[in-house]
Amino acid sequence: MYRFEEIWGNQRLLSHLRMAVKNQKTSHAYLFIGGSGSGKKMIANTFAKYLLCATNQDEPCDTCESCRVFESGNHPDVIYVTSQKKTLGVDEIRGQILETVDIKPYHYNKKIYIIQHAHTMTVQAQNALLKTLEEPPEYVVFLLLAEKTEAFLPTVLSRMVTLKISPLSEEEIHRYLVGKKLVAPEEGGFFAAYAQGRIGHALELIEDTAFRQMREDILTQMSQLQSMRLSEALLLAKEWEIFKNDTRFLDIIALWYRDLMAAKSLRDERFIIQKDKKDLLYSAAKEPTEILAKKSAAVTKAKERLIQNGNFRLTIEVMLMELKENGAQ
Ligand SMILES: [Zn+2]
Repeated sequence: MYRFEEIWGNQRLLSHLRMAVKNQKTSHAYLFIGGSGSGKKMIANTFAKYLLCATNQDEPCDTCESCRVFESGNHPDVIYVTSQKKTLGVDEIRGQILETVDIKPYHYNKKIYIIQHAHTMTVQAQNALLKTLEEPPEYVVFLLLAEKTEAFLPTVLSRMVTLKISPLSEEEIHRYLVGKKLVAPEEGGFFAAYAQGRIGHALELIEDTAFRQMREDILTQMSQLQSMRLSEALLLAKEWEIFKNDTRFLDIIALWYRDLMAAKSLRDERFIIQKDKKDLLYSAAKEPTEILAKKSAAVTKAKERLIQNGNFRLTIEVMLMELKENGAQ
């Protein structure tokens, strides 16, 4: 359910939005800036629901008709502007906004347009929207969701209130995931670290059973790597070809070495991110930290090569050879 209390972090921004509604000083256009999975959709939806709520409380009331219809996703006065293409063109702006903007709200005193992926708006689309942004009907509120401000014309930007959504810290995401019982406490560290401040990303990964399976497989293989013969280890490069378009397996390997270093040098569980794998980590953390650091660098290098379209098999084989070196020379 869309409620402010459900949103973590960004408390200043939320209280700004609440105060604007309470003091009836809302703007006609807001631009929410944040990376994918940062929570901008959640914030914009909660704000829209709050703007339309018939009661004037600290949260959307969830009992008035507007609040109830909002949750169903079929609120007659909320229009989600989307595009089937990679960009949001002038046709979408005309068809989904300009043709309906002069029609008064059906039931409520506001009509809200939520423009998703607004940073993909073409220049023509922005110019088409500009006139309405300059002289909007008084009941209209535009909520634009975008990943970057640079995508907008200065004239368009100047007509909107820009709100930057800050990523959450790893601890905040960890507390959220565990507090909501979405993952076991020992698993929380991994998903929080992996999501890099983007709560939506963490939620997606938790649901993604293929990703979880990939992690299990990779970590098992990594824990066996040192006891494999080199010829055996190199076969992994072939096996991992299924991840050719998914370099996340290298992030999993990088995090493995990061945790091995923590297990080896600090001997303090608090510094291990993947607490759910601590037994595996402690039993594998045999090499000196300098060697582990070198191996970790080899993983980073392999990822860079793959991003630059390096040959997959060759890159991974080179990496595996580096990971197999025992540092004795
Ligand atoms: Zn309500």
